[in-house]
Amino acid sequence: MKCPYCHVDDDRVVDTRPSDDGLAIRRRRQCHKCKRRFTTYEYVERTTVKVIKKDGARVPFDREKLKRGLEKACWKRPISDARIENVVLEVESHIAANFESEVESRAIGELAMQQLRELDQVAYVRFASVYRQFEDVHDFVDELKPMLSESPRPPR
Ligand SMILES: [Zn+2]
Repeated sequence: MKCPYCHVDDDRVVDTRPSDDGLAIRRRRQCHKCKRRFTTYEYVERTTVKVIKKDGARVPFDREKLKRGLEKACWKRPISDARIENVVLEVESHIAANFESEVESRAIGELAMQQLRELDQVAYVRFASVYRQFEDVHDFVDELKPMLSESPRPPR
């Protein structure tokens, strides 16, 4: 870390502790050259990617909106808040790793669906029906077919 006083990049960390709110790590550093001390903060990186909506409008990625959509899909399903939060984190980290500045809202929906599908099929279908806005019931049935053929038949 470059010293803010003499601009030499040579320091040591003299103290490390979490900030009061627990959302950052605070480090006291001492410059080897001028011996002055300064503080740096380390935060979790949040994605600042823009979402391209269907009409072409760009809006900031809104993790709360994604989470609300997932919560709706998981309504009364045996899925804990932590699992839902985990889906959001998975989607977020995938976006951060694969999209530099913009991502289509459709791609976010697909990512969330992939996660949900592993988690709970009812929640998956609910989410998919909202996200894909199926034109008619036939599209919806087409979507379900591969899933139904995957699940083993119950014994008679
Ligand atoms: Zn210095």
